[in-house]
Amino acid sequence: MLEEIKEAEQIIDDLRIKLTQTQALYDLFVTAQNSPSKSAKPCEGLICLPDASRAISEHSSDWVSCCECLRKYHFACEGIVMQKEIIASSDGAYWCIKCQDSDFLLPKMIDLTQKKALWVKGKLDESLESVANMKCEAAFMEDIVIRKSGPCAKGLIQALKQLGVDLHAYYTCSFVGNHMHKMLTDDGPSILADSLGDDSPDRDKYKKLFTGLGRIQQFFTADFLDDDRIEELEQCCEQFACDLKESLPNESVTPKMHFLTAHIPAFARRHRTLGLISEQPLESLHARINKLERQYSAYRDVERQMRMVAQELYIKSSVL
Ligand SMILES: [Zn+2]
Ligand SMILES: [Zn+2]
Ligand SMILES: [Zn+2]
Repeated sequence: MLEEIKEAEQIIDDLRIKLTQTQALYDLFVTAQNSPSKSAKPCEGLICLPDASRAISEHSSDWVSCCECLRKYHFACEGIVMQKEIIASSDGAYWCIKCQDSDFLLPKMIDLTQKKALWVKGKLDESLESVANMKCEAAFMEDIVIRKSGPCAKGLIQALKQLGVDLHAYYTCSFVGNHMHKMLTDDGPSILADSLGDDSPDRDKYKKLFTGLGRIQQFFTADFLDDDRIEELEQCCEQFACDLKESLPNESVTPKMHFLTAHIPAFARRHRTLGLISEQPLESLHARINKLERQYSAYRDVERQMRMVAQELYIKSSVL
């Protein structure tokens, strides 16, 4: 990340130089148009810029010759100013402006140099914005790393690794159902709680709470629930609420926690399912679409590829 920022800042420096050069060239042509001054050793350009102002970049006062008419020009007088252009035009074949376009007059040149300067300015603005974004993201990551480096951090990372939970999701606070499932079933709760250390008074508390959460999660299957199961769910939610109050009496109850303990049982009673209307089935579409996209990756035409994927998806969901 920091490397990328450094690289981008280098590009910005280059662009700043280019912008100064192109803008200077534009100004020079405008001034030259208004008050043509005699250069000591003029070239055969549309106009030969004054001696002193020609050295916009390191080499722009040097000469370039046309491979067709063999006339000689100063780089700057031909509108060539950026290092890249200088290298390209001194590398063998170069056709001068007059040979390229016999109607090319000074106003056209002014227009061209202005466009060049505007283009560079646009690039510079773009780069500045992307660096600002990157810096913002870097600060955010730094913040997370600092905030998540308490005394138990190492143990917790170890535990997450052991459970096969994506660490990136942990750092970016973006756990999804699958991560939670790994953390809350089987040995998940005890492995997580153990990361607090053997002599932590909170260990059993959290193990109990995580286990309770895991029990509730089991009801989120893509199926209907019968009366017995719904009653079981009610008990689980009630138990979890009691445990929560007892273990963490000073923690505030977030809206999600309130929904979980107070409204989920009623919801299950009414709709007789939890998993069938969760976002999980919809999320599983991603995997299907990714697979189809791979299948049709040979299509170069993106629109056509998308059409094929959509078509296939439609057929699959209609037949199955
Ligand atoms: Zn010249
Ligand atoms: Zn020529
Ligand atoms: Zn409520």
